Amino acid sequence: MSVVTARELGIVACETCGRVARAPRDAQSSAHCPHCGSALHSRLPGSLARTWAHLLAACVLYIPSNLLVMMHTADYAGRRSDTIVSGVIKLWTDGAHGIAVVVFVASVVVPVLKIGVMAYLAISVQLGWTSLQRQRAQWFRFIERIGHWSMLDVFVVALLVALVDFNVARVEPGPAALAFGVVVILTMLAAKSFDPRLIWDVPRPTADVSTRPQAS
Ligand SMILES: [Zn+2]
Repeated sequence: MSVVTARELGIVACETCGRVARAPRDAQSSAHCPHCGSALHSRLPGSLARTWAHLLAACVLYIPSNLLVMMHTADYAGRRSDTIVSGVIKLWTDGAHGIAVVVFVASVVVPVLKIGVMAYLAISVQLGWTSLQRQRAQWFRFIERIGHWSMLDVFVVALLVALVDFNVARVEPGPAALAFGVVVILTMLAAKSFDPRLIWDVPRPTADVSTRPQAS
């Protein structure tokens, strides 16, 4: 697919208000949006490195968030501690199928999907892939959209704590809840630091702006 990017035309869109302005002459000097005053970046500085840092940290913390205890529950039948997966199985066998599905989707499907897709996007940009650019841009928008629902699992635990406390049972969050909360924040930061415009940057020797004479 042949696409002329705004960077090649020497223009840049403000990330805050969307106003299109002339890009600064050299990459080092910073320009500001004439409309809202935000800093203008043709590409977010250090985007790929920061995306990788957040993603790798999220991968590392996803391990304890699944292995450690997510929730302690105590009722007349005794006390039990559950990880995410054992909690989902317990909810399912107790007949709470709806909540089991919500917890499974929010705490297993969504984080794995987010980490997987963000890693795929980061690898594709790192290696300068030239295919499926439109699809990759759509994947990024999809990840941004489901990001709003990432904290669902933490809300479910909070909801259970509030609901169950009215009855004879007690629910307390375990150490995995903290690890999981940090994983969610890290995946959000990874998506936030990724500049989707990088997807469209492919080596194009015929249209290299750096060799093009600057109009004064
Ligand atoms: Zn602006």
